[in-house]
Amino acid sequence: MVKCPKCYKDIKGLNLMVIKIKTIYFDGENFDEDEYLYPTDTTEEWVCPECEEVLDIEDDGEATEFLENDGLKKIVKEKINMIKEKNKKCTK
Ligand SMILES: [Zn+2]
Repeated sequence: MVKCPKCYKDIKGLNLMVIKIKTIYFDGENFDEDEYLYPTDTTEEWVCPECEEVLDIEDDGEATEFLENDGLKKIVKEKINMIKEKNKKCTK
């Protein structure tokens, strides 16, 4: 089991919240979803099932890493390295 970085509770899994923006055509009388389908925007957020806070996870690969024992440490390490790399580039 891993600990949530926000509420520090032990969690067995994560909730994936999918937020979709859908365009529905309205001609003044009827709503039409089928004929006028526009590209939909989708936002995915990985959320702690205990505190419902959005966690710093990008995709299911990262989620798997997170849920595997020290996944969180790994993600944090990677982020720190990324920030370090960025800072290096900025100072040069
Ligand atoms: Zn939590």
